[in-house]
Amino acid sequence: MDCVNCREPMIVLEVDQVEIDYCLECGGIWLDSGELGILLDDDDIVAEFLEKPVMTNHVRESERLCPECEKNLNELLVDPDNGIYIDRCADRHGLFFDRGELKQVIGLFRTETSKKVASLLKDIFRGDKID
Ligand SMILES: [Zn+2]
Ligand SMILES: [Zn+2]
Repeated sequence: MDCVNCREPMIVLEVDQVEIDYCLECGGIWLDSGELGILLDDDDIVAEFLEKPVMTNHVRESERLCPECEKNLNELLVDPDNGIYIDRCADRHGLFFDRGELKQVIGLFRTETSKKVASLLKDIFRGDKID
């Protein structure tokens, strides 16, 4: 799969049954809906990302294309305080996070989930590549 952001081929990292498409070039991460479910282990949160029309009222069309269906992704404002947008396929194929965004987004979740995912990410990136 090519990176949503820079079009370089992404590598697949597998940790704890979660396959994460990761771009060595720009640090972007693509998570499809199945991976997201395993990673977050919380159907409500996954639904919030993928099934509710929007998490906030702020949505804009991205110039980036979904790697699955090649339609334009939508940018959702998930953290107004820090101006963090994540890219989501309207057909629920998955989410794209720019470098560091996944970590920031996870910080918005309740603590238990945050800890679990943060330690998983630490394993994946050995704590040094996602900031
Ligand atoms: Zn990239
Ligand atoms: Zn799609």
